[in-house]
Amino acid sequence: MNQTIEELSSFLSTPQKIIITMHRDPDADALGSSLGWASYLLKKGHEVAVISPTDYAANLRWMSGMDQVLVFERQADQVKCRKKIEQATLICCLDFSALSRLKDLGRVVQDAAAVKLMIDHHLEPEHFAKWMIWDTNAAATAQLVYALIKELEAGLTTQEIFDKSMAECLYAGIMTDTGSFRHANVTPEVHLAVADLMLTGFDCSRVHRLIYDNAPLSRLQFLGYVLSQKLVVLPQYRTAYMVLTEAELARFNSSSGETEGIVNYGLQVENVVMSAMFIERKGEVKISFRSVGSFSVRDLASAHFSGGGHKNASGGRSEQSVNETVAYFLSVLPEYQEALLSVD
Ligand code: 5GP
Ligand code: MN
Repeated sequence: MNQTIEELSSFLSTPQKIIITMHRDPDADALGSSLGWASYLLKKGHEVAVISPTDYAANLRWMSGMDQVLVFERQADQVKCRKKIEQATLICCLDFSALSRLKDLGRVVQDAAAVKLMIDHHLEPEHFAKWMIWDTNAAATAQLVYALIKELEAGLTTQEIFDKSMAECLYAGIMTDTGSFRHANVTPEVHLAVADLMLTGFDCSRVHRLIYDNAPLSRLQFLGYVLSQKLVVLPQYRTAYMVLTEAELARFNSSSGETEGIVNYGLQVENVVMSAMFIERKGEVKISFRSVGSFSVRDLASAHFSGGGHKNASGGRSEQSVNETVAYFLSVLPEYQEALLSVD
């Protein structure tokens, strides 16, 4: 046991008031790791509240414990959230490394008196937490939560520690952050963790179906529109990009969940190694980047779009107009041409 885990273990030996929070617009890893960790802490007798900075996609609602999740952005939850954070003795920050990723909740967490624990796999963390369980080699935060719980409960069997619904939440995080076990972040540890979680007997095929084959018809129609009308390919930069304006999103009545993952389709085009999606929403432009192999979209996102993330999956934002943002993106591409052309 390293010192962080030893200190955490001793801290958790008495009942605590614990908040678990994750990045805005939480994905299956952010929510799955949070709910898996929450369920473990509840079993250990702690008081636990899970707070999401913003709303989350509908295809994650099935996760066990979701009905208890408070949404800071919701007027109805905000007073309760603030009160719980004020009273908390521990705040666990999962799947993000910078407080700015909490939106308005960031300031509240920063000012809170509680001890902070970060569990994350993103690059370049801010040092706002007393305890950091941080490993950029981990494929998912859920994988780190799995390993942490195993270490805290060394000596117990998997079935004694995890129940099916905890395992499902953690599996969902690992499955989605590895692109269903096909990205470069898949390691023997990933498969070993999943194999171990499967000993609880949950149905992984069902988890996959609930997340990926659970879309309203409108999402597929929207996807059809984007792929047929909005996908631009620049062969000279091995880049694909899509731009979605607020008006188009409104036309398709699209919620944030419906654009999730669409950026990945750009990478399915032959020879393309970077895909970008620009989404105009609430007066700002949110950008998603994906890449393959040696090309780091994280470097591009942090150098030009106040963003970051992982080497092959990152994001950023811009306060310029959507047209200006795209023009700027196109203007920086020559800088990256050599790197794009040299991807294997
Ligand atoms: P997505 O494209 O799914 O929104 O984000 C992909 C990844 O990029 C996320 O897992 C997250 O790590 C990172 N990311 C997305 N948006 C931002 C951002 O605004 N700032 C930073 N630092 N990372 C981001
Ligand atoms: Mn993650």
